[in-house]
Amino acid sequence: MGFLTRPLLLLSRSEKVKQLVSTMPVSAGIVRSYVPGETTESVVEASAKQIDDGIRVSLDFLGEDTLDAEQADATVAAYLDVLGQLSARGLTRMAEVSVKLSAIGQALPENGDKIALENARTICRAARNAGTTVTLDMEDHTTTDSTLAILRELRKDFPETGAVVQAYLHRTEADCRTLAYEGSRVRLCKGAYDEPESVAFQSRLDVDKSYVRCLKVLMAGQGYPMIATHDPRLVSIASSLASRYGRAAGSYEFQMLYGIRPDEQHRLAEAGETVRVYIPYGTEWYGYLMRRLAERPRNLTFFLRSLISKS
Ligand SMILES: Cc1cc2nc3c(=O)[nH]c(=O)nc-3n(C[C@H](O)[C@H](O)[C@H](O)COP(=O)(O)OP(=O)(O)OC[C@H]3O[C@@H](n4cnc5c(N)ncnc54)[C@H](O)[C@@H]3O)c2cc1C
Repeated sequence: MGFLTRPLLLLSRSEKVKQLVSTMPVSAGIVRSYVPGETTESVVEASAKQIDDGIRVSLDFLGEDTLDAEQADATVAAYLDVLGQLSARGLTRMAEVSVKLSAIGQALPENGDKIALENARTICRAARNAGTTVTLDMEDHTTTDSTLAILRELRKDFPETGAVVQAYLHRTEADCRTLAYEGSRVRLCKGAYDEPESVAFQSRLDVDKSYVRCLKVLMAGQGYPMIATHDPRLVSIASSLASRYGRAAGSYEFQMLYGIRPDEQHRLAEAGETVRVYIPYGTEWYGYLMRRLAERPRNLTFFLRSLISKS
């Protein structure tokens, strides 16, 4: 983790900073580079453009840590709306959705898991009717067990539901072994939250080594690995492992975030790889933006300078 990453992730929890950042005009430019729009229409349009270029998409309606059941219902409604619009445009063969369980009730003080499961079921049903799938994003480590338990329940009726695992957690190699079965879609990412030493590797090198170990388990297994990283070394290791384990293009996919390394996304797609771009949208972009800035000191310096000069 970079020396600025932890302070920034901590800062991102302050309501005051959130207020300041969210209302600053300077936010707009940076936000737009990571989030194409706030409305369903804008994200469907952005998706159509990617799909025209042969790139698949996974759409994330922004919002997390919902402590209000009505807000959770509104998030479910937003997913049903976007699935309907994607279907109407004939895009669902190339477009799926990513869902954060904390946005649909997991963090509610009473029956959070049950509510999140029922809400996730509603989204999975709508996705299946539209001819596509759902992937459950992974959040901080206090939610991992609950999220994997909800995934297991959902997969009884919707086995196509995707899982996410984070290479920075000590537990993840074992989770990959459990998840590498036939038909199991598993996204492997490094992990984006500020996690303690007791549960997570702290150095970049250790996280990268764990990523490679997890990747080997997934590539050697029977499932469908979704390799979510912008790291050039890991992309190249993934390609080598695909050859080593005799995986044809299309039996795994690369995933990157909207706005990050678009040239590489196109290069991989043109080389015949399956590539999917994760596109967040909506008004609740603050937490997402802060995690992206924490990963990228160059953007962070620019951003903080603007913040200081305006306050
Ligand atoms: C499709 C997808 C889904 C994800 N889902 C989850 C999830 O469910 N849960 C979760 O915890 N995390 C998720 N993440 C985030 C992930 O955990 C990492 O935080 C993020 O991808 C950065 O790690 P990296 O593998 O790209 O490697 P890094 O070491 O962070 O970056 C490698 C290189 O990528 C480029 N790069 C990275 N970030 C930026 C940036 N912000 N701007 C410009 N260039 C950049 C740089 O060239 C950098 O050197 C997801 C990531 C992707 C791609």
